[in-house]
Amino acid sequence: MRVSKLLMPTLREVPAEAEIASHRLMLRSAMIRKLAAGVYSFLPLGLKTLQNVEKVVREEMDKAGAQELLMSALLPAEAYMQTGRWDIFGESMFRLKDRNDRDFCLGPTHEEIFTETVKNEVHSYRDLPLTLYQIQTKYRDERRPRFGVMRSREFVMKDAYSFDLTKEGLDASYDAMYKAYCAIFDRLGLDYVVVDADSGAMGGSGSQEFMVKSEVGEDVIAHCDKCGYTANEEKAECIPAPKDFPQDEKPMEKLETPNAHTIEELTDSLGVPAYRFAKTLIYKVGDQYVAAMVRGDREVNPIKLQNLLGSPEEAELAEPFAVRDITKAEVGFAGPVGLSIPVYADKEVMEMKAMVVGANETGYHLVNVEPGRDFTPTLVADIRTIEDGDICPRCGGKIDTFHGIEIGHIFKLGTKYSKALGLTFPDENGEEQPVIMGCYGIGVNRCIAAVIEQNHDDNGIIWPMCIAPYKVEVVVVNAGDETQMKMAEGLYKMLSDSGVATLFDDRDERPGVKFKDADLIGVPVRITVGKKAADGLVEFKLRNGEGFTEMNFADAAAEALRLSGEAK
Ligand SMILES: [Zn+2]
Repeated sequence: MRVSKLLMPTLREVPAEAEIASHRLMLRSAMIRKLAAGVYSFLPLGLKTLQNVEKVVREEMDKAGAQELLMSALLPAEAYMQTGRWDIFGESMFRLKDRNDRDFCLGPTHEEIFTETVKNEVHSYRDLPLTLYQIQTKYRDERRPRFGVMRSREFVMKDAYSFDLTKEGLDASYDAMYKAYCAIFDRLGLDYVVVDADSGAMGGSGSQEFMVKSEVGEDVIAHCDKCGYTANEEKAECIPAPKDFPQDEKPMEKLETPNAHTIEELTDSLGVPAYRFAKTLIYKVGDQYVAAMVRGDREVNPIKLQNLLGSPEEAELAEPFAVRDITKAEVGFAGPVGLSIPVYADKEVMEMKAMVVGANETGYHLVNVEPGRDFTPTLVADIRTIEDGDICPRCGGKIDTFHGIEIGHIFKLGTKYSKALGLTFPDENGEEQPVIMGCYGIGVNRCIAAVIEQNHDDNGIIWPMCIAPYKVEVVVVNAGDETQMKMAEGLYKMLSDSGVATLFDDRDERPGVKFKDADLIGVPVRITVGKKAADGLVEFKLRNGEGFTEMNFADAAAEALRLSGEAK
């Protein structure tokens, strides 16, 4: 492809809306353009990259024995109503009606539709096991779309579903997908970890997430170096950590603390460390209010709270007016004693002695409060967020945390969907048995963002060869020089004819402009044809390396062919 003909409107300025490197670079290198919040168009360079990722995914899925098909994105509501997910998806589902007033949605994920397809099209248990997949556009009305294609409202997903008759069959199907995912992410050159997404109590490997380490990742992962325990923040089990508390019990007492609304202000005014306080935070979960208590130096994990309440709605801090109504005090003075709403206390709170809590009265706190004596929580559970230095729940070692981005998820679904939608086969006794399912997803365009997050520098993207939109770029320094142009044309033709995706910057532009663009769009191999073309020499440069090598024309072509993997 000639750059003079390519729709590649690169940007010199850093777009204000982009907070992270991959988003900035995808906009600047003209891969994507924003259409609406969380909705993007893919321009030629972006689409080529997307297709290259899809190719890797497709090859590994096919190798694992999965069959590709393609479902509609426009889905009738009935199956989602039958499984209850029409309600559970809530506002994150895009809904619409057709001209006959029939309900539809834009598919957020396709479990229901695949289950129905197998029910309608597979008539004998002899046709199982079966793993089906598609690479298709999904829609979710994210509350906070951000970070470009990392968290968009329309995205390309590879979703696969396995159908088995036995648990052992499901294990085998799951294992095949696990291996395929490792192969895919290895080929994409991603540095990733596999996180057990099961809660500790369940054990096993019923659900695993593939995460890439990234400082901008919104997921936090807890990891123990000693035993290898790895879990998502919302699943990571928190063990109460011992602290020194006064052992002598004293009667509860009310103290005036007029200007102490925060833990910092309290530690200053009372002169005791943060761990001696218990925070009481009022949360709204769906249409109910609950108080959540953690030690003063800890944070409440809203997802643990939400899961504990079994709510489809996120747990959110209550509005100040609601806090005032519930506690009869300004924000900052809530406490468990005498509170009218349910109190959920973290396990660690119950190991505290002589704690300080809000008095539910503006300007006052209670001291010498003993859990169990002065208040009894509605429920004691693990509701806090795990931190660096926490105790490993498996081996007692030390927990480290890091940020990550989920790029893939594999999940043993069991019979939830087959039961709800009546996908059964008769067993040897003639009794109908529900099919056992698994589901497996990869965020295809999110993979692109993850690759960029892990492969870029100040000048632009550094594509791994595997998914680079073009493998080689030929740059002619002076498009007006006949010798240079002739050699560059020859190189471009030779590489293209050999099947190497080659970009040819033939523009009548200053060399600096061309080099800046080349670095920005990140093509792995660059061959520059300049003044020394007259001597048969070119500059050979790798995007991920320092400096360049002077080579003769033929050697440069051979090396480019070899690196791009097309050399025979
Ligand atoms: Zn451990």
